[in-house]
Amino acid sequence: MRVLLVGSGGREHALAATLARSPLLTALFIAPGNPGTAELGVNVPIGAENVPALITFAKEQAIDLIVPGPEAPLVAGLADACAKANIACAGPTQAAARLEGSKSFTKEICYAAGIPTAQGERFTSVESALTYVRERGAPIVVKADGLAAGKGVVVAQTVAEAEDAVREMMTQGSMGDAGKSVVIEDCLVGEEVSLFAFCSGESAVLIGAAQDHKRIGDGDTGPNTGGMGAVSPPRGFDHAAQENALDLLVRPMLREMAHRATPFRGVIFAGLMLTDKGPQLIEYNVRFGDPEAQALLLRLTSDLLPALKALADGKLDTTPITFSDSASISIVMAAQNYPGKPLTGAVISGIEDANALEGVKVFQAGTQKNISGETVVSGGRVLAVCALGKTVKEAQERAYAGVKAITWDGAQYRTDIGNRAL
Ligand code: ATP
Repeated sequence: MRVLLVGSGGREHALAATLARSPLLTALFIAPGNPGTAELGVNVPIGAENVPALITFAKEQAIDLIVPGPEAPLVAGLADACAKANIACAGPTQAAARLEGSKSFTKEICYAAGIPTAQGERFTSVESALTYVRERGAPIVVKADGLAAGKGVVVAQTVAEAEDAVREMMTQGSMGDAGKSVVIEDCLVGEEVSLFAFCSGESAVLIGAAQDHKRIGDGDTGPNTGGMGAVSPPRGFDHAAQENALDLLVRPMLREMAHRATPFRGVIFAGLMLTDKGPQLIEYNVRFGDPEAQALLLRLTSDLLPALKALADGKLDTTPITFSDSASISIVMAAQNYPGKPLTGAVISGIEDANALEGVKVFQAGTQKNISGETVVSGGRVLAVCALGKTVKEAQERAYAGVKAITWDGAQYRTDIGNRAL
């Protein structure tokens, strides 16, 4: 099978490494890829959001399957363009990708399908939003309706804080068009975890669960990032609880989407809160998380390629997909000054040493080769050191041994990834 993988991060390096193990793979192209993916296939200089160029390339190269990594090409209509061009695509249509792109749409689906989620409403007028906040009281959560790169949510502890958030989003335009309408909802309390599944139409197969670490600093301090590490499984969320959450929060959504003639196909990433009333949905993402994918894919024991093809063809029920019960972890190493403007150019050493350690795998993201052929820092999140273990503790020890093997000037990482799961 000839495959075109779209994206350039650590998630895509992990997907490329997993696909490259498949005996069914005859050619792997990555658009645009990174130095890690270049060792596994052919990097193609096409941006992940350039849908027309991706389709032209796929036709020229007789691609059998397109695997989208990030959400941007999906929101830009990659799967719809693939359908027109008769190319299989392991990702959702633009209509189904609204599950990630619009928070009010997700609420509408949850209410229609009876999915447990925080009570909330959408507002397009500042006055009615402010009235609702005052009536409902704090703590309360104010969200820009559209995509705001993780910055569009304010968990307000006081009514005044919530009122400020409403005004900033709706009158001062702090979130641009994404904040023209807002969703205001009750504050959920509990442990936050992510659930992943392959879905096609009304079928869903559990991949597993992970816990992300969003803040830059140990102990969840400092500013938010794209994610500094992930651990799987999270504490208190075992296999049975994950299957239960899939039944409660994902399968009803799939039935509702199919009923609306916009069936979902792809990887679903459900962000949820484990509350004392059971799991409640916070959000859906329509693709793998980064760095969750790097950890979770290490646990896959079956062939990823036929699974993704079956998902694209609506035949998920006929394909075995299996994961080991191991624990896994990913630890992101970031550039100096990240999440501010990263300092680039530092030479990285030790990647091969880390890869040689038992159970350890390094996935590259913000790296490039300099003219001397050395691997250097080129972006904020530079790489993820991932490891499998029989227990979270073992996976954590192995991954941190890998981290210690890798150095560059100004490298930063958290030293507590996985502690909450112990
Ligand atoms: P953006 O659209 O800006 O990219 P996002 O998709 O990350 O944002 P959410 O996942 O809905 O937005 O919310 C971000 C974070 O805010 C969640 O990971 C969670 O920690 C917190 N949060 C969101 N909704 C609630 C809620 N109802 N109760 C408590 N915390 C919440």
